Amino acid sequence: MTQQPSPNHLAASEREDAQVARLITWLSAMAIAFLIGIGSKAWFAGHPGHAWVLWGFAAVVMAEMAHYACTRNRTVQKAGLLLVVGSLFAYLIVSGGESNTGPLWFYVFPPLLFYLTSLKTGTAVLLFCYLMAVIVFQFPALPFVTAEYSTDFKIRFFATLSFESILCFTLEASRLKARNELVALAESHERAAKTDELTGLANRREMHNRLMAEFSRYQRAGHHFSIALIDLDLFKGINDRFGHDAGDQVLREFAATVQTIIRQTDVAARWGGEEFLLLLPDTSLLQALTLAERLRAEVAAMRFRFRGADLPVTISAGVCSIAKATSIDELLKQADVQLYSAKASGRNRIAPRVRTQNGTTTSA
Ligand code: GH3
Ligand code: MG
Ligand code: MG
Repeated sequence: MTQQPSPNHLAASEREDAQVARLITWLSAMAIAFLIGIGSKAWFAGHPGHAWVLWGFAAVVMAEMAHYACTRNRTVQKAGLLLVVGSLFAYLIVSGGESNTGPLWFYVFPPLLFYLTSLKTGTAVLLFCYLMAVIVFQFPALPFVTAEYSTDFKIRFFATLSFESILCFTLEASRLKARNELVALAESHERAAKTDELTGLANRREMHNRLMAEFSRYQRAGHHFSIALIDLDLFKGINDRFGHDAGDQVLREFAATVQTIIRQTDVAARWGGEEFLLLLPDTSLLQALTLAERLRAEVAAMRFRFRGADLPVTISAGVCSIAKATSIDELLKQADVQLYSAKASGRNRIAPRVRTQNGTTTSA
């Protein structure tokens, strides 16, 4: 199974992509200025052919900028720049530019390449450029090669370019590693801030946020939702008789059971000590009562064991639908009142008790 990128990774990638797009715009503007400037210099130095080629490249970069301004297509923008820069460098190395200094522009390429593409693509493109340079240097008699370089220049050019490329690769690899570690760290902090450590369910703060979000959705679009406030019965007795570790294990097992029963869109949180809250989006009071009852029956039928002893675990819950409240506070208060009534009428039950179509009550 392939692993989906996390929302944090996606957000970081989106931020980086936007940053790269801005950088390319600036680089393109700079490239246009340089190409026009150096082209003009070549014109006045009596190299009109060279000047026209450079101005031609400037026109292509301008066209790419205009295309990006219209489409905002970052992939085309990136590929376009790399293609133009690659072709320009090919021209410079083949022609030698002015006074055979054209290949010096090659040094701009490795950092740009690794920043704009991945390490793999960058290395592949660089190797291709090397191959091109080797062909030009080794076969000066080829019809399209007009420049001639000294052996000393060729050796130094390859040595310095290799040194720069390896350095750029290493720096970019460590930048990516540090970035991924940072995103993973931010993610684990974010998860810890939202999660209850013992049970792995949402914590109170996260549940509060989810309740507020669901309430806004209800106000905006009328999507009803319900909540169930669940409390483990006589839990203090379990702690007292079997120890705190037994209590902790019950809390964990109960949380795991809750997660097998609720839907993916529901949210379960540890609301306090041995109190849990379920947020059930798009759920009526009756549906919520049915779910709470299923959970109650499941827990009552389960065998909780700790060091060979059977633990008596049951739950009570108070259920309320947003249709019966005007705010989250009121909703929680009403669920609490219902929970209190479930406890008062004997525990191991759900409140309110309502009659269903076939005449039975939803609670035990
Ligand atoms: P009731 O049915 O009326 O709810 O009775 P109860 O004993 O469950 O209620 P009470 O509020 O008297 O006790 C709750 C107990 O839950 C007391 C507390 O020590 C225990 N508790 C709260 N948090 C934890 C926890 O994280 N681990 C363990 N083991 N026990 C906890
Ligand atoms: Mg309790
Ligand atoms: Mg309690």
